[in-house]
Amino acid sequence: MKKGKKLYEGKAKIIYATNDKNLVIQYFKDDATAFNNQKKSTIEGKGVLNNRISEHILSNLSQIGIKNHLVKRLNMREQIIKLVEIIPIEFIVRNVATGSITKRLGIEDGTVLNDPLIEYCLKDDKLGDPLISEQHILAFDWATKKEIEKVKKMILRINDFMVGMFRGIGIKLIDFKLEFGRIKINGKDEVILADEISPDTCRLWDSITDKKLDKDRFRNDLGDLIPAYTEVAKRLGILHEQSNVSAVNVTKLSSIKKKSK
Ligand code: 5GP
Repeated sequence: MKKGKKLYEGKAKIIYATNDKNLVIQYFKDDATAFNNQKKSTIEGKGVLNNRISEHILSNLSQIGIKNHLVKRLNMREQIIKLVEIIPIEFIVRNVATGSITKRLGIEDGTVLNDPLIEYCLKDDKLGDPLISEQHILAFDWATKKEIEKVKKMILRINDFMVGMFRGIGIKLIDFKLEFGRIKINGKDEVILADEISPDTCRLWDSITDKKLDKDRFRNDLGDLIPAYTEVAKRLGILHEQSNVSAVNVTKLSSIKKKSK
């Protein structure tokens, strides 16, 4: 697989072409942004952890029949993924009210929702990813009714699976963001899960202490983001290295190994 030119650079990832027109390489950066790009930083090792965690979750989802773009992880920071046409909507799934919904609707922080709540945001940084309704999506042809119905079914299965998976390792899945893309499979139009699922895109709280193990550590200046992401990876059973080896050390270790070859 040959890496080609850069096709797209987002806030946390870069997409490169490959010699196969249907496949691209997704590179996980260490950059962190929040509040519509107003807050920016680089956190060494974040991309490595997100690459591993997202690979783990998407492979597991694939095993329960949720089609997604992941082909395989290539190395510490890169994955081969199927090229899709991204639907320009961020699908937000909430199990507990926190973050923007509490400010927008005056709901008490931490309110447990009886059923998962799905919200739609237009994927447009310049507009600050505004909240939209299903009617907006149909009115402006951002997706078809059939696509929305398919996506909603997938979202509920993804949420069920992920709530259970995280509960098993002592973590509450509070909310998360998903993206979907269009692709032709054997000549048929399909909608599959795309982007990433990681502590950058989910809110994850320790089940006992409510300690935040996600990007809110950066958004809210809580510090210790890498130890929190490492904790998630360890509990998922991804990091088999000695328990106190951080992703940063793993990155350094791999570059030392390469140099010494
Ligand atoms: P909120 O709407 O409360 O800010 O976010 C709800 C959930 O969606 C959180 O888990 C948050 O991480 C995720 N989310 C919403 N928008 C974005 C985004 O633009 N980028 C990332 N990485 N996550 C997002």
